[in-house]
Amino acid sequence: MHRDIERVLFSEDAIRARVTELGASITEDLSGQDVVLLALLKGSVIFFADLMRSVSSQIRVDFAWVSSYGDRTESRGTVDLKVFPDEDLGGKTVVVVDDILDTGRTLAAVVERLRQDQGVAAVKTCVLLDKAARRVIDLGADYVGFEVDDVFVVGYGLDHADRYRNLPYIGVLKADCYGGDEAS
Ligand code: 5GP
Ligand code: MG
Repeated sequence: MHRDIERVLFSEDAIRARVTELGASITEDLSGQDVVLLALLKGSVIFFADLMRSVSSQIRVDFAWVSSYGDRTESRGTVDLKVFPDEDLGGKTVVVVDDILDTGRTLAAVVERLRQDQGVAAVKTCVLLDKAARRVIDLGADYVGFEVDDVFVVGYGLDHADRYRNLPYIGVLKADCYGGDEAS
């Protein structure tokens, strides 16, 4: 285990098993629809790569780059849609994929942006982790991997100051590693 990790919450095996289930649910629920899986960069990349291979129906993929700014481990509510797909999403069922649903601001901003796109047939949401205790906006995801308590987690794509994304498991970051003034 990495020395900055206090404890492992979800092992590689547990994540793999759950992602396989999520992929099967998406396959079953959305088959026959024209589906685009939309990854929110950067945090969802590893989850996304595994999830898309767990979906066995025909899908397309696209990417959006979204940042929420704040101090350390707390987002302050400004969501910046830096890059958004310019492909025509008309008639598509867009499944927004993110690493973690925390305050809900990020997902809400992306969903709202997609709904402004008149032609989008349906918007679904899929997150690996749901930290419900911290919700500011009343919003749930259609597909949730795991519920997590109000602790700051890293690994499997999740970062702190852009580090730890490459840990293969999800763990709680030691509190004394929160130092510095980086945005989360
Ligand atoms: P929200 O907009 O829902 O507050 O936050 C979504 C984003 O905040 C996530 O995509 C993620 O980048 C970041 N975030 C929220 N909680 C955590 C956490 O426990 N660990 C990490 N690494 N990022 C988090
Ligand atoms: Mg982040």
